Amino acid sequence: MKSMSIKDRLPVHLRQILLPNSAALPDDGWICGKLHCPCGSENFRVKTFADTSPEKFIRVTPHQNGFALSVAAECAACGKEWLIFDYAMHGYEAVVCGMGVQSCQEQMERRSCPGCAGDAFTVRISIETEDPEDFVHELGSESFSTEDAAEAFSWITMDLTCTDCRRESPGWLDLETS
Ligand SMILES: [Zn+2]
Ligand SMILES: [Zn+2]
Repeated sequence: MKSMSIKDRLPVHLRQILLPNSAALPDDGWICGKLHCPCGSENFRVKTFADTSPEKFIRVTPHQNGFALSVAAECAACGKEWLIFDYAMHGYEAVVCGMGVQSCQEQMERRSCPGCAGDAFTVRISIETEDPEDFVHELGSESFSTEDAAEAFSWITMDLTCTDCRRESPGWLDLETS
């Protein structure tokens, strides 16, 4: 039996902060939504540990003996910080294959808008999810839970829009994780 609940598909660490556009699970498994803090705000300061040398997007960066990338979002209204993505913790390669090394929290850099240097953004996210029951069936329920399956998504994208000047950064993060 296929799991059709969108809630079961959402990565566990995003269930409080990612508001899906639709309550129904799309047939292709892609969940699209936006960051929405429980306090009601949709404006976030964005911090990264990543290769930020291309202006328009971020990518994994060599770190220690592997590669790292992480993105955190701090609510501009209430100040709560949310870890949105960490290459060493989230996505199929991290969950199943142990890919990725831990990012350095102290070296995370705040993103500023290339247009106006503002630092608050609205954030749209798309995640390609897998059916958790298929996942657990394939890999074995003694090793993986359905919550692991929800974290083992296969693709994530993030689009930013500057709150001040409305400049958009589509595909700012576009990472296949399987
Ligand atoms: Zn908040
Ligand atoms: Zn701006």
